This record gives sequence, C-alpha cells and structure tokens, in this order.
Amino acid sequence: TIVTRFAPSPTGYLHIGGARTAIFNWLLARHTGGKFLLRIEDTDLVRSNADMTKSILDAMEWLGLDHDGEITYQSQRFDIYNQYIDKMLETGHAYWCSCTPEEVEAMREQARQKGLKPKYSGRCREAGLGPGPGRVVRLKAPIAGATVVDDMVKGPVSFDNAELDDMVLRRPDGSPTYNMAVVVDDATMGVTHIIRGDDHLNNTPRQILIYKALDLPLPRFGHVPMILGPDKKKLSKRHGATAVMEYETEGFLPEAMLNGLVRLGWAYGDQELFSREELVKFFSTDNLGSSAAVFDKAKLLWLNAHYIKESPASRLAVLVNAFLERKGYPSQDLEYLARIVPLLQPRAQTLAEMADKTESFVAATDDLTYDMKAVQKFLTPDVREHLADVRAILDALCRFDEPSMEQAVAAYLEAKELKFKKLAQPIRVAITGGTASPGLFETMAVMGKKRVLSRIDRALS
Ligand code: GLU
Repeated sequence: TIVTRFAPSPTGYLHIGGARTAIFNWLLARHTGGKFLLRIEDTDLVRSNADMTKSILDAMEWLGLDHDGEITYQSQRFDIYNQYIDKMLETGHAYWCSCTPEEVEAMREQARQKGLKPKYSGRCREAGLGPGPGRVVRLKAPIAGATVVDDMVKGPVSFDNAELDDMVLRRPDGSPTYNMAVVVDDATMGVTHIIRGDDHLNNTPRQILIYKALDLPLPRFGHVPMILGPDKKKLSKRHGATAVMEYETEGFLPEAMLNGLVRLGWAYGDQELFSREELVKFFSTDNLGSSAAVFDKAKLLWLNAHYIKESPASRLAVLVNAFLERKGYPSQDLEYLARIVPLLQPRAQTLAEMADKTESFVAATDDLTYDMKAVQKFLTPDVREHLADVRAILDALCRFDEPSMEQAVAAYLEAKELKFKKLAQPIRVAITGGTASPGLFETMAVMGKKRVLSRIDRALS
C-alpha cells in the first residue's frame, strides 16, 4: 500500500503552499486506498510551539484532510535518530569529526578560492575518532558518481556526489540534523511516496545518501513547483492573505479552498470544478504539473460563489450566523436565516458578504442604520404620504406573501396613477435602510409583517 505523509514545521500557520502539499499527499493516499500520515517537525524547539501545531491541525480539519494513525512528533524521537546514527557509525557509513566550525569555514573558503563548491574537506574521514566534546558525526558520502532523484514530477534530476558534503548527521549537542531526522522518520513510518515543494529538492540527494547508507528502501519523491502571485513572483504576504485560515475568516467555504488549491499544479483535462469525491477519484501524480502555478484570488472567489450557490440554505445559515456573531450580533433564529440565505445566494461571493447583507434583515428596527443620502433622496414628503398608505394596505393583508403584496401594491399604484418605480426604492430604503437588497417583495415576505411595518413606522417617524 501507498503511504504518504505531510510534515509541517509548526513555526507558522498553515499557508497556501503547505496546504497544497498536504492536499496532494492526502489525495494520493485516498485515491489508492493507502495511508496519509502526519508528522510535526518540531525539532526547532525555539521557533516551534504547540499553538502553531494546533492551528495547523485546525486548518487541516477545516479542509477535511483527515490523517491516519497517531501524529508523529520529531521532538519525541531523538533517541531513535541516535540509534540510526550509531548504526551508521558501526557500519562505517559515518564517522566522528573533531574539526571546529572555524576550521570547517576555512576549508569552505579554500574551496571557494579555487572556484569549487564550498564543502568540508573530509579531513576526519579516515581518522578513526571516537566521541568527544564538540564532535559531530558526519556521513561518509561517496566522493565520485552521481545521485539521481527519479522525481515523479520533474523526471530524473542528477546531482554530482562531488558537490555534496560529508554532511553532519549529529550535532555536538547530540541532536540530529534535519535530513537525518526526516529519513529516519520517513523510513520508520513506512512512507512510500513523498510529495513536497521543490524548495526541498536540494535536500533530496542528501536524504537518498542516508537511505543508502542505512540500506533502507527509497521512497518515491515528487517535487512540486512553487506557487506564484499574479505578478509571477513567489507568493508572499504582499499578494494578500497566505494563511489558509485567513480565507475562512474572509468567508470562503472549505470546498472552494480545496478546489482552488488542488488546481495549483494539478489538472484533469480542462475541468475546473471538482467535488471532494471527484478529486479522490481522478487524482494521479501523472497530472502534477512541472511549471509554477499562479494563485489567483479572483478565481478563488469565483469558485466560492459557485459553492455558495450549491450549498443547502440550512448549512449556510449556520455559517452566516457565526459571521454575524463575530460582528457582535446575538445568535439568530436559524430558520429565519435559512429563509434569508436563498435571497443572497445567487450573487454572494463570500460568507462575510452574505453576513453583511443579512444585517438589515436581523437588526432590531431601532438599530437599523439608514443611508441618510438615500433617505433624503427617496423619502420625500409626497412619497411619505404614499408610504403611509402602503403601510395601511400591507397591514390589512391577511397573507403576507409575495403575490398578495404585489397585487395589493399594484392596485394602489393603479388607483393613484403611479409607476412602481416611484415607490420601490422608497419602500426598500424604509425597510432595509439602503438602496440595495434582493427583490423587494421577496425581502418583505421573508422579513414578515411585523418587522416590515415597524420599519416603515420608523422611517415615517
Ligand atoms: N517540514 C518541512 C516543511 O515544512 C517539510 C519537509 C518534507 O516534506 O520533507 O517545509
């Protein structure tokens, strides 16, 4: 079976690039009926923290990326890493090195002056040293030949072994280096396929050398190109929100985010919209692209608008309620919200926008804010008289539904020889406070008689 993993470092929030990597690994596992494991790379004890780990887990849960088995924490595995380092020392694939950082820097400088790639000279390779204060353990790397990464995305990428250092595996304080820990983890977790950003491509030949030294089977690697902003520069804060959960805050649905992220470097013909089930069904590493993908917020908004239209009103009501609560409203009657939602669904791009437009429906009449310009423009003295008549007509209706209101108002307009235009905006301003709302009679029907009349009263007072 295929075993994939996602290995975030909890030094920051889950960002767009990390989430995309997680999605690809999750999809490969789910598509093949394999396993998707999670490893927290928290060896940098200073920069890692538990809150970040929690926020990464929350973001993955929001996206629906469930993992299998227990979470592996690197910080709890130093003993295991050292066992493997000891094994490499025993088999002669690693050696103790007593060169000081200054000496190593001097070797690098010498290489640089000769126009060579700066590297450790290998002075202690054959010295047969044992452990001692300040000593590190280095890999006895092959001096000649090449290490080839048979990449699932990029094809074979060859690295000259002469360019690779006898890298440090164990630091003077006994802690393992990054590449050492990653190889031991991936091997002991049984990981068979690794998809990650191509900023890690340079680590891969080094990791392969460690696999070989330990005589462990190699996983398959796939390095996906980085994500660019619309200006074709590496995606960064400059381009807007980079943390996944900022998109939740802005009112994106997780399925829109999943759909948008997966398309950054993966394609299936020219299909744009994918349900989660379709993604699982269609995913293949063969369709991972090797050229950089551009993150486009406009496209994400388009996707979000699509998924908002598709969502059941009852679900959106719950989500909109949460947005209203964040704005300081008390929790609303969800059935009332579920009747408002369909009026907003056709045009909304985000949940935040829906919540904004819901405000005029849920605000207490006394708290409704009026667009004063609109009030001045539309609620003129002659219009106010008509509005008072309309109020009486609406009050007299026994059925407060769209056709009844429409009919009653039409009869009044005819009797007074008025056009609908003359009263439509004034009524809208009176009941919503502004000039933009869904259809007038739909809006009134959803608001209900009591609310509508109290608003007209306030507008007329
Ligand atoms: N912890 C690394 C990162 O967050 C992932 C390394 C890997 O996937 O091998 O970039």
